[in-house]
Amino acid sequence: MSIVSRFAPSPTGYLHVGGARTALFSWLYARKFGGTFILRIEDTDLERSSQESVDAILDGMNWLGLDWDQGPFYQTKRFDLYKEVVAQLLADGKAYKCFCTVEEVDAMREAQMAAGEKPKYNGMWRDRTDHPTDKPFVIRFKNPQEGVVVIDDLIKGRIEVANAELDDLIIARSDGTPTYNLTVVVDDWKMGVTHVIRGDDHVNNTPRQMNILAALGAELPKYAHVPMILGDDGKRLSKRHGAVGVMQYRDNGFLPQALLNYLVRLGWSHGDQEIFSIEELVQLFDLSACNRAPSAFNTEKLLWLNQHYIRTLPASEVAKHLEWHLSEQKLDISQGPSLEQLIAVQGERVKTLKELVEVSRYFYEDFAEFDEAAAKKHLRPVAAEPLKSVQQQLATLTDWNAETVHAAINTAAESLGLGMGKVGMPLRVAVTGGGNSPSLDVTVALIGRERAIARIDLALSYIEKRGEAA
Ligand code: GLU
Repeated sequence: MSIVSRFAPSPTGYLHVGGARTALFSWLYARKFGGTFILRIEDTDLERSSQESVDAILDGMNWLGLDWDQGPFYQTKRFDLYKEVVAQLLADGKAYKCFCTVEEVDAMREAQMAAGEKPKYNGMWRDRTDHPTDKPFVIRFKNPQEGVVVIDDLIKGRIEVANAELDDLIIARSDGTPTYNLTVVVDDWKMGVTHVIRGDDHVNNTPRQMNILAALGAELPKYAHVPMILGDDGKRLSKRHGAVGVMQYRDNGFLPQALLNYLVRLGWSHGDQEIFSIEELVQLFDLSACNRAPSAFNTEKLLWLNQHYIRTLPASEVAKHLEWHLSEQKLDISQGPSLEQLIAVQGERVKTLKELVEVSRYFYEDFAEFDEAAAKKHLRPVAAEPLKSVQQQLATLTDWNAETVHAAINTAAESLGLGMGKVGMPLRVAVTGGGNSPSLDVTVALIGRERAIARIDLALSYIEKRGEAA
């Protein structure tokens, strides 16, 4: 049997990390078995759905590299099909028209609650034939009244629900539009979905959907309900916990490889291995090794993984993502080192790409002021002479690279009988504007001769002014 799985988001917001993890599990499952992965946009709730959300979902899927084989299918384009199926169920006596008014249904509920019963539709139109011709009606599914539905959930194990617990749910509203449970069922059936992998907030819908599928004579798919993700405080993950949209993680400087690795481990394990390439995941992933319990989001671990991937992925891969951040922070790559050079010198020093770009501004643009604390500490009058000497040495270099720059700094320090410590920090602050940078020779080499010399001038005038003020 060929596997067909799907991701079926409702476009009512961005692709959040919970949805992304569900998509990832579903995608991995299809890829593992060489099956088909379908993307289906469940946009029947016209009020809450928007094109913007559709775009956000597609962007998120693309950024994560979760490609689909079929779709995106839009449920709003499939209304004819749903209507046909509803009509068929009616014709077969597996669904019926219910003429209850909203008030009647409310009254039914209240009476049941007052009697201490669980509120549910009591089936009052289930067997009636005295249909009015001039009243609005909804269409309800004739749920079996006896027996149990058994879900052999691939993650949660066996779940049994008595049919007596389920009422006859509405499958078409009074305006004729189909309801959520009907559209999902029709699509899973018509699209040949063999594995429904989705969030466990849908576990209550599953027995109802299985009953409808059975009434349609459809083969039942297998179900796997993925437990939810909690914030690090144990509460359901929400905006309160910071970023929840996938693209927000991109904006914050995460690599898709890190987020995918993080999300898969959040709910699945393979021994105590933490780092997985996508190829490995496709090979190793299995629904049976997924956690049944919710998992808590841990930003520290995500940062750790991100750092790992910044350091270990081929620079060309990191560069693809870094480029976006440079333009986002309005830095012009043609004004400084190449992306690969930048990754080589800064990659080890940061946890996110956003941070990488933030600490690299001085490579691409000049600054008018020095970091106050660093300048106070290192650009003192005693630093003037060593800075001048380094400047002279740099000016004489014919070859300009990290080695020659290194030698020039050494020569300057030696000529004054000073250790590197007395020269290094003032020079670092002078050329970068602050007290942190990669190793000085490489940094100066990448900044370039003219810029380095001009910035030392700026530092010298800062020192001079400071001397006058004292
Ligand atoms: N559209 C539903 C949601 O976004 C998912 C339905 C399903 O996966 O069956 O929650």
